[in-house]
Amino acid sequence: DMSNAIVAQDEMGRPFIIVRDQGKKQRKHGLEATKSHILAARSVASIVKSSLGPRGLDKILISQDGDITITNDGATILSQMDLDNEIAKLLVELSKSQDDEIGDGTTGVVVLASAMLDQALELIDKGIHPIKIANGFDEACKIACAQLDQVAEEIDISKESTDENLLKSAKTALGSKIVSKAHEHFAQMAVDAVLSVADFERKDVDFELIKMESKVGGALENSSLIKGVLLDKDFSHPQMDKEVRDCKIAILTCPFEPPKPKTKHKLDISSVAEFEVLQKYEQEKFQEMIDCVKNAGANIVACQWGFDDEANHLLLSNNLNAIRWIGGAELELLAIATNGRIVPRFEDLTPEKLGHAGTIKELEFGTTRDRMLVIEDCSNTKAVTCFIRGSNEMIVAEGIRALHDSICVVRNLIRDNRVVYGGGAAELTCSLAVSEAADKQVGIDQYAFRAFANALDTIPMTLAENSGLDPIESLSALKAKHSLEKASNLGVDCLGLGSNDMKELFVIDPLIGKKQQLLLATQLTRMILKINDVIISGKDEF
Ligand code: ADP
Repeated sequence: DMSNAIVAQDEMGRPFIIVRDQGKKQRKHGLEATKSHILAARSVASIVKSSLGPRGLDKILISQDGDITITNDGATILSQMDLDNEIAKLLVELSKSQDDEIGDGTTGVVVLASAMLDQALELIDKGIHPIKIANGFDEACKIACAQLDQVAEEIDISKESTDENLLKSAKTALGSKIVSKAHEHFAQMAVDAVLSVADFERKDVDFELIKMESKVGGALENSSLIKGVLLDKDFSHPQMDKEVRDCKIAILTCPFEPPKPKTKHKLDISSVAEFEVLQKYEQEKFQEMIDCVKNAGANIVACQWGFDDEANHLLLSNNLNAIRWIGGAELELLAIATNGRIVPRFEDLTPEKLGHAGTIKELEFGTTRDRMLVIEDCSNTKAVTCFIRGSNEMIVAEGIRALHDSICVVRNLIRDNRVVYGGGAAELTCSLAVSEAADKQVGIDQYAFRAFANALDTIPMTLAENSGLDPIESLSALKAKHSLEKASNLGVDCLGLGSNDMKELFVIDPLIGKKQQLLLATQLTRMILKINDVIISGKDEF
């Protein structure tokens, strides 16, 4: 109904449309709506805020059916919260986007976005229009990103050089996680995993080639990287060799059992002689199958189906190690990794169709009857498997998340080896750059810029607070030092190591990750500021 709409002009002469309120509606809109959105976002952010940084606290999440998760990963915390507020859900999406693109910095991005929203709220209270704030934040974000580009430094990560730098970065990423006790070990695993599949020419890492497997039991330190694939299976007979070298694998989808004798009717055996005929028939058929396998040159039989004791025994006495009941997906993985073909009939077996692997060995786990097969030195792929152990399911799950994060950091550095310094150092230098730019602004943007700089300050302040330091004291000391030394590597000494030099402590963040945080947080803030009405479909509006 356009009769309710009037066109007005703002003080810059730009036109905008005001749609007059219909008066009866109960729902919130306009500034009231924007404000309530910000408050909703703030309440979500306050939950993850205390888990930021190496001294951040873990959270226990209990799902409706009682499953327990212990984590300090922002994306995980948010994804498991049962939120019914639409704006709060946007924050969840925000940390998910950071997770998908970068894989690390998921807590930071939410803390930053909520700080920006808080700052925006103050400006709204001063009477500045949300769109103006959003535009000012956009400009400020550009300045911050330019500053990041300027202070970023390259670290040497070429394959030839030592992977020291990668290792240190992976360690930093793990510093705040449950696994910090085993972080040397996990960092090494992350680096080894990435390096064994990385393509340095294309500067990329194919995550498909890094598999995660886990088994509850043992300690985190018992986790290991397997240069190959892992099957959650064992050899079919306990007397088979526990380790086979130079494996040639027949990968079969046909059952290891003799075809039923071709009679249309029920098979009636009424005499011993008839039984013996049948038995002989079965034995011959079994022998034919074994011959097919042997003639093709295989020493391992991998079957999608099961087989009975007799077949099992025959395999054993023919020196063939066998694996049975391999699931379809695992069978495919095995075929791809060993460069073998999946064969549907024994007659089709030929030497060319066999898969090849250096060794297949059975892993045993303590006193449990659990066993797994490790298939190493596979002929085709560079695929590796990170095998995570831990004393309970929660630890294992957090171990996988932590390893994933540090693998992401290493991958990001291979994609782009420019880094900025952590511990809030990068945010501080951006904050100072944006503040400096604010002084030169004549318009309303000056306020937006200052507010943006304040929002950036929240990161070092939160890190300080979470480490038991006085946030304001730490911030002002750091700022003074920053401007004095014109340095960009001064951050919060979260671990109390007696130094603010993040370069020296090697607390780094990949440039692309830090930039992504700024961009995503600014984008989200802009989006929320532009929403001034929430209409929930299906609900009565009057
Ligand atoms: P996120 O999920 O955002 O990665 P983290 O809990 O991993 O959150 O915390 C990351 C923040 O902690 C980054 O700002 C990083 O620079 C900082 N940080 C990590 N290790 C240290 C350290 N040893 N000293 C100071 N700051 C650190």
